[in-house]
Amino acid sequence: MSRRISLIGSFTTDWIRYSSYEFKEDEQGALYIIPTKDAVFSMYNPFDVAEDLLMDLMDIGQRALKTELNDPELKNAIIIFAKKYGLLGLISASVYNRNIIGEDHVLMIEGNHITKERILKAKEYIKLFIPFVEEGEVVFKTYRNSVDVSKWEESPKFFGKRPVVMDLIFSRFYAEQVKWIIDFAKLIVSHFDQLLMYRSSSVYLTENVTIMAGRFHAEKIGFTINQLDKTTIAWQFDSLKTTIETIYAFGVTDEKVLLSRCRHCDQIFIANSSREKYCSPSCRNYANVKKSRNRKILQKLEE
Ligand SMILES: [Zn+2]
Repeated sequence: MSRRISLIGSFTTDWIRYSSYEFKEDEQGALYIIPTKDAVFSMYNPFDVAEDLLMDLMDIGQRALKTELNDPELKNAIIIFAKKYGLLGLISASVYNRNIIGEDHVLMIEGNHITKERILKAKEYIKLFIPFVEEGEVVFKTYRNSVDVSKWEESPKFFGKRPVVMDLIFSRFYAEQVKWIIDFAKLIVSHFDQLLMYRSSSVYLTENVTIMAGRFHAEKIGFTINQLDKTTIAWQFDSLKTTIETIYAFGVTDEKVLLSRCRHCDQIFIANSSREKYCSPSCRNYANVKKSRNRKILQKLEE
């Protein structure tokens, strides 16, 4: 595929996805998405599929802006998204704490999709992400200097190489509310729409405008510097959410490709230049047919 977003640096964060997911309601009636009991996991590198990942998330955001949370097509799109890319890792992306397990309290990131509270008890917070776990399936052990998560199943463990909370995110007990995922997808699309508005009026701008200041700012992106034949930035992400935010940021600032909206079908797509107005040859054809039809109608009217 030629329409690739240029990601600068080394992007090798592995993420997990399960082979099937289902919807489940917790006791308060909140709708969750969670791997099915018989699902098997596989690992992948989100940056290998950066463009599809971003387009699929924005597609969910677009649908969600036009329909109800319970729309079957929207729900289906979320299941497909989870099977392709896994869940967002919001447990980690929504707080300032590097690790959540073993802490007494968590400090919520401003504008998170989980709660309006600023500080939560860590135990209550963790419960929000494992509402269907049964006695003994996940056990948190606290030692004098460390904590550990034991899971009654096979899924990757990082043995301290990544924050312990990742052990939980990668388990089949980890669930996220559909509403949280949709809110995030909608936020990215709204951000993009504002961006398009400013882009088209940029001749009038005299200074930097921060798009959706206060609502869009990725937190907790770490990096190290690696040396092989050249020196590179090695990004470190602890959630799929910040991974997507970063891909989006590179996507909208890329100088070779351009994130655009199709003039015919309104879909967001990656264009090779600002001259490219349509997402596909068929949309271009439709638009051309419409144009020539309109021209003919005008001619007839003039005759
Ligand atoms: Zn189109």
